[in-house]
Formats: sequence, structure tokens, C-alpha cells
Amino acid sequence: MDYFLTEGEKTIQNLARRIAEEKILPVRAELDEKEEFPRDIIKDLADSDMFRVFIPEQYDGLGGGCFDLCLVVEELSRACSGVAVSYAASALGSFALLEHGTEAQKHKYLPDIAAGRKLAAFALTEPTAGSDASAMKTTAEKVDGGYVINGTKQFITNGGEAEIYNVIALTDKTRGARGASAFLVEKDTPGFSFGKKEKKMGIRSSATRELVFKNCLVPEDNIIGREGMGFIITLGVLDKSRPGIGSQALGVAQGALEMAVDYARERVQFGHPIIALPVVQNMLADMAIQVEAARALLYAVARTIDGGAKKYTEESAMAKVFASDVAMKVTTNAVQIMGGAGYMRDYPAEKMMRDAKITQIYEGANEVLRGTVAAELRKRKARRA
Ligand SMILES: Cc1cc2nc3c(=O)[nH]c(=O)nc-3n(C[C@H](O)[C@H](O)[C@H](O)COP(=O)(O)OP(=O)(O)OC[C@H]3O[C@@H](n4cnc5c(N)ncnc54)[C@H](O)[C@@H]3O)c2cc1C
Repeated sequence: MDYFLTEGEKTIQNLARRIAEEKILPVRAELDEKEEFPRDIIKDLADSDMFRVFIPEQYDGLGGGCFDLCLVVEELSRACSGVAVSYAASALGSFALLEHGTEAQKHKYLPDIAAGRKLAAFALTEPTAGSDASAMKTTAEKVDGGYVINGTKQFITNGGEAEIYNVIALTDKTRGARGASAFLVEKDTPGFSFGKKEKKMGIRSSATRELVFKNCLVPEDNIIGREGMGFIITLGVLDKSRPGIGSQALGVAQGALEMAVDYARERVQFGHPIIALPVVQNMLADMAIQVEAARALLYAVARTIDGGAKKYTEESAMAKVFASDVAMKVTTNAVQIMGGAGYMRDYPAEKMMRDAKITQIYEGANEVLRGTVAAELRKRKARRA
């Protein structure tokens, strides 16, 4: 389908596609096998200005928005979503700063993120606080000249690899979610260290790690927004970043579809390529329909966000849920079409299936996000009544 991309959007898409094909495809199996962070590819992405895509021009960015970011993530994920999420997590770690940071904070941190010299990360989840983030225990106690952070964050993408961390912590334990605040914490801050590095089912080239804070003093200037704004900031960050997870899902689904079509054309059984079998054609057709429907919804939501919509919680959740469910179905069917070969690690189909699964879980499990959509529907009905 023609989405009538602008010349600028086509340039970004083509550049990301070229990096994916030339730099990622040849090494994706090795990165997955060795669970190795893609440092060299991050540098290639930085050299090609890909980290500038989501940063405004006044901070050395290209001034693009959610749509440009989604185009890059989709193309990278078509080759390897472990690499793509390492890239996208830097945007996730920058959104609070972009939306709520002071000019001084933006000028201090964003040019390095735009140049890809420094990676960012977003740290909300804790061992006892996953879907229910309000159960967090990490505290940030106000002292002279700053805040002292204590606690542990779990499952943090780019943990240990990023230099700049957007950490959510309680400045007032008595107020629950309303007592949370957002902070910028630099990697080498005393009292900040890294714990367990997770061994994952998929996206294995990405780093997922614990962050440990023990009497970690951050300067007063590193609070983002005001005390108590942490959860409002978090909700805004996730609304903005969920289409990126959707794009990750879309890219992996697109890659799996292409692989399944190529395989079905080549594989001969009963004297004919298996693509001649109606049952295989039906599966491929359904996969193609689902992928295009996911793309249409995602692009529409990303354009809605860039167009200046004030609220897009529901749309953002819809796009993430739909695209991730599509990715799981399409990658599973790609393995099925490839039969035994699909199950073997010689082909990337099984990796795509493993990589797709996480998109249904992180940045809001799909069950939780269906609840978000349903809550919006309930509000709408109440308004009409
Ligand atoms: C690889 C990876 C990378 C991650 N990266 C980051 C990161 O960079 N930063 C960060 O802060 N976090 C990160 N996370 C955390 C991620 O966002 C959480 O894992 C996710 O939100 C789910 O939380 P949980 O794992 O604690 O599951 P739980 O909250 O324990 O939920 C388990 C299951 O219960 C069901 N469930 C729970 N609550 C509800 C509900 N209200 N309604 C319906 N069903 C429900 C869902 O099926 C859910 O899948 C990452 C996680 C992984 C695995």
C-alpha cells in the first residue's frame, strides 16, 4: 500500500533499510547466539544520524517525531528486533526529558543522545512492581542539594549499556502513585551499579539488566518536572513509545512474511512448490492482510501523535496490542509454513517467533492495555448518557 511518505520520510526509511540489510542481517544470528550487545551497529546507526531522528533541531536533532522513529524501528526489526529495541530504548529514555525537561537539562543531555554518543534508558519496573507500577519501592529522599535514591529496578533495556537513565522513584512514600518523581541519573554516579543481566527467550542481543541504587545522590537539578509528577510523566512516556513497540512487532512480522513466501516458492513437495497448495496460500494471504492492517493502524496513530493530538492513550494502546498480536501469529505461521526447517536455528524464523513474543508483554502487557482501551470506551459511553 502506498502511504505517500514525504521525501524526508523515504530517505530515513531507505537509510534504516540499508543499515538493516548491510550491517544487521549478516550478524543477527551470531548476536542472538552469543547474546551480544550490538555496539558496532549502534555506532553505524549513530554515524548515519538515526539517533537524531527523534530529537528536535535545537538540540542537534533532525526534528522528526513518532512517525520517523517508527519507520526506523520497523526497518531495523525486519532484520533483528534485538538491535531495534536497543536503538528504540534510547528514545524511550529521552521522552520525559523532551516533554518535561528544562532548557538546561535538554542542552546538557540531548545533543549527546542525538549524536548516538550516549544511549538512554527508562527505568520504571521493579521486582514487586510490573503492571502495577504504583507498587514501586524505590525511594528518592530529599536532602541538601539533591535526592538520595535507594532501591532496585528490574528488566531495564539498555541497562549497563546506557549512559543516561530516566529513573522513577518515590519522593513521598505516603502518597502512592502521586508521590513518584522522575530523575535523570548518569551511569557513573556513586551508589549506582548494575545487577543481574537477564538471559532471555528473544531479543537476545539487547541488554536487559537490574539497576541497583544504594545511597545514590543525584543533584537537585536532575529532577524532571516537579516532585509528584513521576506517574503523569510515565503515562505520557508510555503513550508516546507504545507505537514504537508496535513498529518493532510490525517489522518482525514483515520479515517473517517475506521469509515464508520465499521458502514456500522454493520448497518442493509432491512435485510442486508448496506455495501452490491452497492451504499455504490462505495462510500467506492472512499473514499479508494482518501485516498491512497493523501498518495502517500504526502509521495512522503515529501521524495522530505528530499531528499534535492532545490525548492518544487509547490509540497508542490499540496499535501496540494489534501489531504485537499480529507479530505473534505471523511469526508462528512462518515457522509452520517452513515445517521442520522453520524449527531449526539454521533459519531465522524461530528467532523471529521468539523475538515477537516480548512485544505482547513489555510496555504494558496486552491484557492490561485491552483494559486501557475498555476504560476509554466506558468513559465515552458515560459521556453520551
Ligand atoms: C525484555 C524486557 C525488557 C524490558 N524493558 C523495560 C525497560 O526498559 N524499562 C522498564 O521500566 N521496564 C521494562 N520491562 C518490564 C516490562 O514492562 C514488564 O515486564 C511488563 O510491564 C509486565 O510486568 P511484569 O513482568 O511484572 O508482569 P506482571 O505485572 O506480573 O503481569 C503478569 C501477567 O498478568 C496479567 N496481568 C497483570 N495485571 C493485569 C491487569 N491489570 N489486567 C489484566 N491482566 C493483568 C498479564 O497477562 C501479565 O502478562 C522489560 C521487560 C522485559 C521482559
